[in-house]
Amino acid sequence: MGYVDLHLHTTASDGVLSPSEIVRYAKAKGLQAIAITDHDTIEGLEEGISEGEKIGFEVIPGIEISAEHSSGSMHILGFFLDIHHPFLNERLEYLQKARAERNPKIVEKLNRLGIDITFDEVLKVSGGGQVGRPHFANVLLQKKHVRSFQEAFDRFLKKGALAYVDKFRFKSKEAIHFINEAKGVAVLAHPNTLGMVGHSEFEKLILRLAEEGLKGIEVYYPEHSSTEVIQYKAIAERHGLLVTGGTDYHGIEKNGLEIGVGRGEMKIPYSIVENLKAIRNRS
Ligand SMILES: [Zn+2]
Ligand SMILES: [Zn+2]
Repeated sequence: MGYVDLHLHTTASDGVLSPSEIVRYAKAKGLQAIAITDHDTIEGLEEGISEGEKIGFEVIPGIEISAEHSSGSMHILGFFLDIHHPFLNERLEYLQKARAERNPKIVEKLNRLGIDITFDEVLKVSGGGQVGRPHFANVLLQKKHVRSFQEAFDRFLKKGALAYVDKFRFKSKEAIHFINEAKGVAVLAHPNTLGMVGHSEFEKLILRLAEEGLKGIEVYYPEHSSTEVIQYKAIAERHGLLVTGGTDYHGIEKNGLEIGVGRGEMKIPYSIVENLKAIRNRS
């Protein structure tokens, strides 16, 4: 049996390769299956799956949802989603709408601070893709309201700064719920970004998430130390949760990580996919 990569981003979110390109690339690299897990969207899945069918390669429909969390960041992966499920689609549309309302609010705050900036200017520098705070920083810099990109974030855009507007996020419970409703398997992504210090604090969180319907932990991840891998694996086993793994590949030029292998050390066996399928069929 071969190896897999269960955490990948395409141009549907912030990856470099299109869904069909990533499928062909994964096959060329000798992998046996992949999951496409774009941030907060399933838009790349139809294309990825049909490319997989065309070339005879297994593509698992997935997603990575950003959830509300007090410290650090919490991401929840969903695998084997029914991408046509109405509730899933309704929730993702709601999320997009909530996010779209954020940028005009930032413009409003800046205007109130006496800074002359329009949303059109921000749209223009974004080049038509997803608009984010770096685009605001570029406009502020171009118009000489700040002397550097960093100053734009420090004074206006970073969390707690004068023109900061919170990004809408689902609660973990909501994200896990709509993943489950869409027949998906919910898995906590890269626990080391949660910003948790204590082991017991983390275990308490896992218990809560398991109650909310979480089915697994992404144990194998390029940024996890070998100690963390052992720790996360033990906690998963203790609570009857699945273990998954992926590289979070965005295009090697983006974060230096290669599909399937990360920095060369990753080897995720196909048996993990079988475990996911087994749990999916049970529920
Ligand atoms: Zn993530
Ligand atoms: Zn990711």
